[in-house]
Amino acid sequence: MAKDTEHFKVSEFACKCGCGKKDIDQRVMDMAETIRQALGVPVRVNSGCRCKEHNARSKGVPNSKHLTGKAADLSCNLGSAKMFETVKKLHAEGKLPALDYCIKYRTFIHIDCGGKRKSLWEVRA
Ligand SMILES: [Zn+2]
Ligand SMILES: [Zn+2]
Repeated sequence: MAKDTEHFKVSEFACKCGCGKKDIDQRVMDMAETIRQALGVPVRVNSGCRCKEHNARSKGVPNSKHLTGKAADLSCNLGSAKMFETVKKLHAEGKLPALDYCIKYRTFIHIDCGGKRKSLWEVRA
Protein backbone atom coordinates (compact mmCIF):
# COMPACT_ATOMS: atom_id res chain seq x y z
CA MET A 1 0.00 0.00 0.00
CA ALA A 2 1.40 3.34 -1.06
CA LYS A 3 1.74 6.26 1.35
CA ASP A 4 0.48 9.81 0.86
CA THR A 5 3.12 12.31 -0.25
CA GLU A 6 3.32 15.98 0.70
CA HIS A 7 0.82 17.07 -1.96
CA PHE A 8 -0.99 13.86 -2.95
CA LYS A 9 -3.26 11.40 -1.23
CA VAL A 10 -3.41 7.75 -2.29
CA SER A 11 -7.17 8.23 -2.68
CA GLU A 12 -6.55 10.73 -5.52
CA PHE A 13 -5.05 7.83 -7.51
CA ALA A 14 -7.98 5.47 -6.87
CA CYS A 15 -10.05 4.25 -9.82
CA LYS A 16 -12.46 7.01 -10.84
CA CYS A 17 -15.39 4.59 -11.22
CA GLY A 18 -15.68 4.28 -7.47
CA CYS A 19 -14.85 0.57 -7.31
CA GLY A 20 -12.26 1.17 -4.59
CA LYS A 21 -9.22 -0.03 -6.53
CA LYS A 22 -6.25 2.01 -5.31
CA ASP A 23 -3.15 -0.16 -5.61
CA ILE A 24 -1.08 2.70 -6.98
CA ASP A 25 2.67 2.13 -7.17
CA GLN A 26 4.56 4.33 -4.71
CA ARG A 27 6.98 5.27 -7.48
CA VAL A 28 4.14 6.84 -9.48
CA MET A 29 3.12 8.94 -6.48
CA ASP A 30 6.71 9.95 -5.83
CA MET A 31 7.16 10.99 -9.46
CA ALA A 32 3.94 13.02 -9.33
CA GLU A 33 5.22 14.71 -6.17
CA THR A 34 8.58 15.54 -7.76
CA ILE A 35 6.83 16.97 -10.84
CA ARG A 36 4.35 18.94 -8.73
CA GLN A 37 7.13 20.51 -6.65
CA ALA A 38 9.08 21.48 -9.78
CA LEU A 39 5.98 23.07 -11.35
CA GLY A 40 5.08 24.90 -8.15
CA VAL A 41 1.33 24.77 -8.85
CA PRO A 42 -1.47 22.32 -7.98
CA VAL A 43 -1.54 19.19 -10.14
CA ARG A 44 -4.71 17.18 -10.83
CA VAL A 45 -4.72 13.39 -11.08
CA ASN A 46 -6.96 12.84 -14.12
CA SER A 47 -6.45 9.09 -13.90
CA GLY A 48 -4.45 6.78 -11.66
CA CYS A 49 -5.46 3.17 -11.08
CA ARG A 50 -8.16 1.73 -13.34
CA CYS A 51 -10.14 -1.47 -13.03
CA LYS A 52 -10.67 -3.42 -16.27
CA GLU A 53 -14.17 -2.05 -16.82
CA HIS A 54 -13.23 1.57 -16.24
CA ASN A 55 -10.13 1.19 -18.43
CA ALA A 56 -12.31 -0.08 -21.28
CA ARG A 57 -14.74 2.82 -20.83
CA SER A 58 -11.79 5.25 -20.74
CA LYS A 59 -10.65 3.81 -24.08
CA GLY A 60 -7.42 2.62 -22.46
CA VAL A 61 -5.38 -0.02 -24.28
CA PRO A 62 -5.99 -3.57 -22.93
CA ASN A 63 -2.50 -3.77 -21.40
CA SER A 64 -2.65 -0.25 -19.96
CA LYS A 65 -0.24 0.40 -17.10
CA HIS A 66 -3.14 2.06 -15.29
CA LEU A 67 -4.53 -1.46 -14.69
CA THR A 68 -1.55 -2.38 -12.52
CA GLY A 69 -1.32 0.98 -10.76
CA LYS A 70 1.93 1.85 -12.50
CA ALA A 71 0.67 4.93 -14.37
CA ALA A 72 -0.96 8.29 -13.83
CA ASP A 73 -2.35 11.03 -16.07
CA LEU A 74 -1.65 14.48 -14.68
CA SER A 75 -2.74 17.98 -15.63
CA CYS A 76 -2.31 21.52 -14.32
CA ASN A 77 -3.15 25.08 -15.26
CA LEU A 78 0.26 25.63 -16.87
CA GLY A 79 -0.64 23.19 -19.64
CA SER A 80 0.74 19.88 -20.84
CA ALA A 81 3.59 21.37 -22.89
CA LYS A 82 5.05 22.98 -19.78
CA MET A 83 4.58 19.72 -17.85
CA PHE A 84 6.25 17.64 -20.57
CA GLU A 85 9.20 20.04 -20.68
CA THR A 86 9.49 19.92 -16.87
CA VAL A 87 9.43 16.10 -16.80
CA LYS A 88 12.17 16.01 -19.45
CA LYS A 89 14.28 18.41 -17.43
CA LEU A 90 13.79 16.48 -14.17
CA HIS A 91 14.64 13.21 -15.92
CA ALA A 92 17.82 14.72 -17.40
CA GLU A 93 18.78 15.78 -13.89
CA GLY A 94 18.32 12.22 -12.63
CA LYS A 95 15.34 13.15 -10.46
CA LEU A 96 12.86 10.69 -12.00
CA PRO A 97 14.83 7.41 -12.05
CA ALA A 98 11.65 5.28 -12.08
CA LEU A 99 10.23 6.91 -15.22
CA ASP A 100 9.82 4.42 -18.08
CA TYR A 101 7.41 6.26 -20.33
CA CYS A 102 5.95 9.76 -20.71
CA ILE A 103 3.32 10.81 -23.24
CA LYS A 104 2.25 14.38 -23.89
CA TYR A 105 -1.40 14.70 -24.81
CA ARG A 106 -3.19 17.94 -25.62
CA THR A 107 -4.38 18.64 -22.08
CA PHE A 108 -2.46 16.23 -19.82
CA ILE A 109 0.61 14.03 -19.55
CA HIS A 110 0.85 10.29 -18.89
CA ILE A 111 3.72 8.98 -16.77
CA ASP A 112 4.44 5.38 -15.88
CA CYS A 113 6.95 2.96 -14.39
CA GLY A 114 5.60 -0.05 -16.27
CA GLY A 115 8.82 -1.07 -18.01
CA LYS A 116 11.08 0.44 -20.65
CA ARG A 117 9.69 0.98 -24.17
CA LYS A 118 11.48 1.72 -27.41
CA SER A 119 11.36 5.41 -26.62
CA LEU A 120 10.81 7.19 -23.33
CA TRP A 121 9.05 10.17 -24.88
CA GLU A 122 5.99 10.38 -27.07
CA VAL A 123 3.66 13.15 -28.21
CA ARG A 124 0.05 12.42 -29.18
CA ALA A 125 -2.69 14.77 -30.26
ZN1 LIG B 1 -12.99 0.90 -11.13
ZN1 LIG C 1 -2.36 7.27 -18.93
